[in-house]
Amino acid sequence: MRDVSFADTAIEWFDDNARDLPWREPDVGAWAILVSEVMLQQTPVVRVLPAWRAWLDRWPDPPALAADSPAEAIRMWNRLGYPRRALRLHECATVLTERYDGKVPTGLDELLALPGVGSYTARAVAAFAYGQRHPVVDTNVRRFVARAVDGAADAGPATRPADLVATAALLPAEPARAARASAAFMELGAVVCVARTPRCGVCPVAGRCAWRAAGRPAPSGPSRRPQRYAGTDRQVRGLLLAVLREATGPVPQQRLDVVWGDDLQRRRALASLIEDGLVEPVARDGAPPTGYTLAGQG
Ligand code: SF4
Repeated sequence: MRDVSFADTAIEWFDDNARDLPWREPDVGAWAILVSEVMLQQTPVVRVLPAWRAWLDRWPDPPALAADSPAEAIRMWNRLGYPRRALRLHECATVLTERYDGKVPTGLDELLALPGVGSYTARAVAAFAYGQRHPVVDTNVRRFVARAVDGAADAGPATRPADLVATAALLPAEPARAARASAAFMELGAVVCVARTPRCGVCPVAGRCAWRAAGRPAPSGPSRRPQRYAGTDRQVRGLLLAVLREATGPVPQQRLDVVWGDDLQRRRALASLIEDGLVEPVARDGAPPTGYTLAGQG
């Protein structure tokens, strides 16, 4: 009983306070929701908004994307970060086109089997596109539930089966309402129960928050520092990809060599892009590569 009223409180708050995001519009289809969930996993909303619109303008359904090359998907991904997501979305579109008549399936197991669709994305699509009852657990929801229900300052380092069970216990029985509660928990975690300074003064569940009731105890584990970007292989990969995205044909090694001074790190970054399937060397008959292209550029 307590758990259901917890969801009711969150839903009521969500009805009045949800951000006006285009992928939440009632007429948005499953493909558009899937694309938004993939983009939002590691990229802030403000950067996803224009990219999501541009992506769907160009590829409004899976067959449209599948008909284009992986290189174009990587190019459109531009600077959203973690570009393997673009490649995986392209693979996903190909599977949807070949096996599902270009549609996004409704079953959780079918969703989980799609390329690039993990536990979180599959449940998010099932809930938000099809109104099903599944615990949708991202980092924000884990933190929100850890604080409000478990009284912990923070959640553990990775989503565990226990997180799914804990969140499922909070969902109303009726599927559409459970999906609404999932959206409300995500929003609360994203904009109210934020990592560093939770806004308890405006939180609708503050009166029943276990962490607050316990006097806001400090985290028990080591504090996690924000990930550094400058100087990392990720930055070098981004610089190399930026050159390749701009090019219409193979890019010679010399043009890539000037993007980063550290020879060893640059080679490592390029090798990892090739290993990830984002970049292809252009070579004939086992000779050293004469250049590089985005994957599937031809
Ligand atoms: S009261 Fe504060 S800590 Fe508790 S759920 Fe709300 S924002 Fe998070």
